Amino acid sequence: MARRTAMSGEFAAIGKLFRPLAQGHKAALDLGDDAACIRPRPGHDLVVTADALVAGVHFFATDPPAEVARKALRVNLSDLAAKGAKPIGYFLALARPTDMDDRALAAFARGLARDGEFFEIPLLGGDTTSTPGPLTIAITALGEVGQGRMLRRDGARPGDDLWLSGTLGDGALGLLVARGVLARAKALLARYRLPQPRLALGQKLVGLAHAAMDVSDGLGADLGHMCARSGLGATVALAQLPLSRAAAKALAAEPGLLETIVAGGDDYELLFAAPPAARAAIARAAVSAKTPATRIGAFAKGAPEVRFVDAAARSQRFARAGFTHF
Ligand SMILES: [Mg+2]
Repeated sequence: MARRTAMSGEFAAIGKLFRPLAQGHKAALDLGDDAACIRPRPGHDLVVTADALVAGVHFFATDPPAEVARKALRVNLSDLAAKGAKPIGYFLALARPTDMDDRALAAFARGLARDGEFFEIPLLGGDTTSTPGPLTIAITALGEVGQGRMLRRDGARPGDDLWLSGTLGDGALGLLVARGVLARAKALLARYRLPQPRLALGQKLVGLAHAAMDVSDGLGADLGHMCARSGLGATVALAQLPLSRAAAKALAAEPGLLETIVAGGDDYELLFAAPPAARAAIARAAVSAKTPATRIGAFAKGAPEVRFVDAAARSQRFARAGFTHF
C-alpha cells in the first residue's frame, strides 16, 4: 500500500511545507522514505494513539487553520499524557477539501510547526489526499514509557481517591461561547480551541496513580468508562469540582450550566485514581508540573456507576452523562 506509507506523492509535493516539521529527527528520514523506522529506547514501551478531527463535527469549518492544526495535535498529546508517556513524534493523514487554498494549508502547517517546536516532537510521516468532503485531520502520536508502566484505565482499586487535573467545563462552556449561546468569555473560548495536554503531570503520575485517562467526552461519560474497566463504582463530590474563574462566573449566573460542566466535552484534563497514601506525593507532583490536581471523589466496590453528590451528600442526576460533540 505505497499510497499509505510515510510519504506519498502529494505529501512530497507539499514537502516544502511539512519537511521542516521533521528536520533534525533521524527517524523521519526527511519524510523521504516509504515508512519511518523507530526503535524505542531500551527498557521502554511505545505508546501509540490516534485521533481524527473532522470539520463540522469537532471544529467549525471557519476556525483558523493554524488553531485547528494545534488542537488536532494536542488532543493526541493529551492521550499520551494520560498514559504517562513522553511524546516522541507523530504522523499526519490529511484530507484536504478541494476549496482549501494554499494559504490555508500553509497556515495549517505553521500551526503544527509551532506546537511541534513547543512540545519538542517531530512529524515522522504522513499522507495527504484531496477530498470532496470536509477537512479531516487524522493524527497518530507516539510516546514512550518505562516498560510495563503505562497508566491504564483498568487499575483503580476500592478506596482509591479520584483526582482531576486543572479545571472542568471550560471547553464545553467555550463551545457555547463559540456558538453564541453564552456571552463572550475569552478564557473559555481559548480553552475550547486550544487544549493544554497535561504531559508533565502525566509523566509524574507513573508509579503514583493506579489508573488514568484524559477527559475528552465529559467527566460523567469518561469516568463511567474508567469504572467499567476497573469494575468499581465512583462517587464525585460536585462541590469539589475545580472551576476556573470564568466557569464559576458563568455557573453563578446560570446554575443549569452545571450539567454542561459535568457532561460537556473538550476538557482534556487528567482523571486518575490513586491510593490515599499517595496524596502528599501527588500534591508535590502537581506543584512541580505546574498543574493543579484536585481530589473530587473516590472509588468503591459496587456496580460500575458514577454517582454525583451535592454538598449535603444528596445524589444528583443529570439528563445526559456525556457528550457527543456537535
Ligand atoms: Mg482519551
